[in-house]
Amino acid sequence: MSQNNFRMYMNGKWVEGRGNRRTLIDPSTGSALAEVAEASSEQVHEAVLAAKIAFETTEWPVNAKLRVALLYKLADLLEASAEEFAQVESRNTGKPIRESRLDIMDSVTCIRYYANLVESRDVWQKEMEDGTTSRIHEEPIGVCALIVPWNFPLLLGIWKLAPALAAGNTIVFKPSEITPLSFVKLAALIEEAGMPDGVFNLVLGDGAAVGQPLVSHESVNKVSFTGGAETGRRIYQECAKTLKRVSLELGGKSPLIIFEDADVEIAVDWALFGAFFNQGQVCVASSRILVHNELEQEFLKRLSDRLAHIRIGKPLEEATEMGPVISLDHLKKIEQYIQLGISEGATLFTGGTRIQGEDGYYITPAVFTDVNQEMRIVQEEIFGPVITVQSFHDEEEAIALANGTKYGLAAGILSQDIERANRVANRVQAGTIWINGYHTPHVETAWGGFKQSGIGRELGPYGLAAFTEPKHINMNSQLQKVGWYSAT
Ligand code: NAD
Repeated sequence: MSQNNFRMYMNGKWVEGRGNRRTLIDPSTGSALAEVAEASSEQVHEAVLAAKIAFETTEWPVNAKLRVALLYKLADLLEASAEEFAQVESRNTGKPIRESRLDIMDSVTCIRYYANLVESRDVWQKEMEDGTTSRIHEEPIGVCALIVPWNFPLLLGIWKLAPALAAGNTIVFKPSEITPLSFVKLAALIEEAGMPDGVFNLVLGDGAAVGQPLVSHESVNKVSFTGGAETGRRIYQECAKTLKRVSLELGGKSPLIIFEDADVEIAVDWALFGAFFNQGQVCVASSRILVHNELEQEFLKRLSDRLAHIRIGKPLEEATEMGPVISLDHLKKIEQYIQLGISEGATLFTGGTRIQGEDGYYITPAVFTDVNQEMRIVQEEIFGPVITVQSFHDEEEAIALANGTKYGLAAGILSQDIERANRVANRVQAGTIWINGYHTPHVETAWGGFKQSGIGRELGPYGLAAFTEPKHINMNSQLQKVGWYSAT
């Protein structure tokens, strides 16, 4: 990595942070990975100012051709260095290399999707009944603060950055303080692609020192945030003060509903994938398994057989299927939830133990049975490799259990009866529902939460709309009197 890899990128220059210094930790060993100098609150202000000046003085907001060309170039550059990015992502987060490779390629696809969407967009125009003509201009909002968490550092950032840039906004981007490395690397590609100065600004640091001054800055017009529900609430309140536009992608406690006609072996396969991808640190993780009571025993038996075969290992080893969780603090939080589950009266059916002799933050996947809907381990997001298994007797009960939390991010339904699966999908309150599948985001669709899982949607045309201000222009081709008031 070049020295730029640990610096911030502001107003077209690489700058040293004047705020906190942080040692990043490799979660697979517990040892130091990199030293990062973070932004001071003054530097946050400088970044916002650079973005504001770029929005007001460059052709970026009005030149869609320039933006499209630059995004295609960025996608090509990222694709060409995909393996390097995947390695950085795995080192910083601990995720298995095969998962990081998926993240990088999904990022490339997302950038190309938004370049193409803007390229092929037509102006909406219509002759109105009163003889006037109306058209809608979709204009950029202005300075957008993009704030993301640590679980998919590059991909979730790209889900915001690609549509925000495509729409013509200027950006101040803040990655999670513990996983900034892939975005620092991306900033170098953005520079190489020829981005005008000030359009993209990267600030590093945590929520209190950098996120808070960014969100509360009067020149920021839009905040797009992905992270925990509590942080989301705080940001929403802060944005209300100046009525900033806000998008919130928050947590979840997503159910996977397995009906009695599902093949048990296949159901177990999807349950593992839904629950334990990225060590369960996924907002849509299928952390609540709802299985028909006729299948429950067979399901649990096969689940524990398969869990014993998951290859837990070092993130960069090709054979690794599961890595460490992100940090020691997070490992302790997961362990506290496991203790809580036991004290609430649930049965720890399997897993939930640290791996002996490991300095990294490894824990075996945990399964709780004998749970009820009121337990905190059923209601609260644990964000790790911990699942609960509940049984149900009929469709109504499955739907009630599925909808019985404050979240509504995603759900899965496994059944050979497609009619029933669709009927249930229509009644489950979640932003994404996979029937006979799980996890795949489709960039051209929509992503986001019902209920307390968030506000707004990412991906697809919704993702672009989140970064535009529609302007309605109505035109009389001739200047005529309205004649509403008497002239005499
Ligand atoms: P977090 O809320 O602690 O932090 C997220 C980001 O917000 C970080 O960059 C952090 O520095 C910043 N931040 C913290 N306080 C802030 C403040 N007051 N003002 C501005 N920024 C602030 O979340 P996390 O622990 O990094 O991530 C895990 C959470 O993210 C989980 O709840 C998970 O469900 C959620 N998540 C949601 C989605 C989704 O698409 N809905 C995707 C991934 C993760």
